[in-house]
Amino acid sequence: MPQAFFESVLDLVIRTSTDLPPDVRAAMKVAMQLEQSGTQSSQALSIIAQNIDLAADCEGAICQDTGMPTFEVKTPVGANQIEMKKQIRGAVAEATKRGKLRPNSVDSLTGENSGNNLGPGTPIVHFEQWERDEIEVKLILKGGGCENMNAQYSLPMELAHLGRADRSLEGVRKCILHAVWHAQGKGCAPGAVGVCIGGDRTSGYVNAKEQLFRTLDDVNPDPRLAELEASIMGEVNKLGVGAMGFGGKVSLIGCKIGALNRLPASFFVSVAYDCWAYRRLGVVLDANTGAITRWLYRDAAQPVVHMADQSGFPRTGREVALRAPLTEEQVRSLKVGDVVLLSGRAYTGRDAVHHHLMKHDPPVDLRGGVIYHCGPVVAKDGANEGSGWRVTAAGPTTSIREEPYQADVIKRYGVRAVIGKGGMGAKTLAALREAGAVYLNAIGGAAQFYARTITSVDGVSLLEFGTPEAMWHLTIENFPAIVTMDSHGNSLHNDVEESSAHELAAFAK
Ligand code: SF4
Repeated sequence: MPQAFFESVLDLVIRTSTDLPPDVRAAMKVAMQLEQSGTQSSQALSIIAQNIDLAADCEGAICQDTGMPTFEVKTPVGANQIEMKKQIRGAVAEATKRGKLRPNSVDSLTGENSGNNLGPGTPIVHFEQWERDEIEVKLILKGGGCENMNAQYSLPMELAHLGRADRSLEGVRKCILHAVWHAQGKGCAPGAVGVCIGGDRTSGYVNAKEQLFRTLDDVNPDPRLAELEASIMGEVNKLGVGAMGFGGKVSLIGCKIGALNRLPASFFVSVAYDCWAYRRLGVVLDANTGAITRWLYRDAAQPVVHMADQSGFPRTGREVALRAPLTEEQVRSLKVGDVVLLSGRAYTGRDAVHHHLMKHDPPVDLRGGVIYHCGPVVAKDGANEGSGWRVTAAGPTTSIREEPYQADVIKRYGVRAVIGKGGMGAKTLAALREAGAVYLNAIGGAAQFYARTITSVDGVSLLEFGTPEAMWHLTIENFPAIVTMDSHGNSLHNDVEESSAHELAAFAK
């Protein structure tokens, strides 16, 4: 396989991670126009739009979670797939080295990060032969937050707020609505769903993910599925989940449905939920040279259309400026819905750090401190041990994973603010009230936007957990986030979940 194949795949990986395809941009533009300006959803979408522009301009990762690279490759009969797979793995490792992909491949038994996105099952590469004499490579990068929101239903079954879902297209419709409602903001809404009706548990999920390779504006060739897709898109936004689950008019930007035959005894509906950072692209290659002959999903000759009509955080004048370390009085004065611009020291901490803090004292003084649920992409400025670090992508990760630990961490170590996305549960809410702390929801996926609020990386602890899991000591300046859980027992997440459950119930027939 010629060197050009490696270069072409590397180009594809970098472009996919950094430049959102035109159909997704167009759908997000429509979402922005639908939200009323000044609302939290509208502010979130404005940050997302700027983030999309920043990522394309600087060729930086759109979201710090660059996801599970999944390649769908079609090859002419007789092409050497073994060699192609080697080159694809090499391109993934090279893109990781260049900071375009975050090291995301973790040994499931030891927790060790391979550091280069290679390992058993990573990346995912599917080959298929076709009768054409060219190679097609498609790639989707789907992050963990939205992957965790995938759902599989086995019909018939009872669904919360919707009643019985039968083995019928009406039952499928209920499953899809339920999946979108259940995701709330945790999958970084507004998202898109790929759905498979039928198959077995494994092929159903694979086919659901494959639906995400369709463009958002295509029409399903099966008129029954086309009608179902249109009906979902016509009604799903009445749920009111909104961007990031803040409540709002747009909860979903696309619904693509496929069907596989099933066993008579099974009827699965598999839903692959993708976030707004819906990164998928493709290339067609000359089978002899490996060079790109054309791009899929984008026209390389067309200039990138910018998304944002303003730069910086869209201020209303009601923002609360805070500087860490924070006092109990400052935190208790905050209420759900307040927008804060936070400055000072913040420490990143996600799964490994929270688990560690259950049995060990923190490596830094967390009194009055801010913990940021974030697994950043970090680059070393030089090769020396003493060289500095630079954060190149740093949006929030899904907070609910820390629910088993967060209350203890807050109470034991005096943490005053936790930044993340998607909200947390009852145990954390009780701890916020008891200890005087607050949960701040940042805009999921806005990795480039937030990286620019980090003025310096002042140190790192627990680097042995790998770059995304280490505790980075950051100085932030005017970091915007919304109070979605306060110290008075209020939670915007509970409110939106409840009101959207009410809307969901209206779809029960
Ligand atoms: S936008 Fe949100 S869900 Fe999507 S990859 Fe980024 S953090 Fe995960």
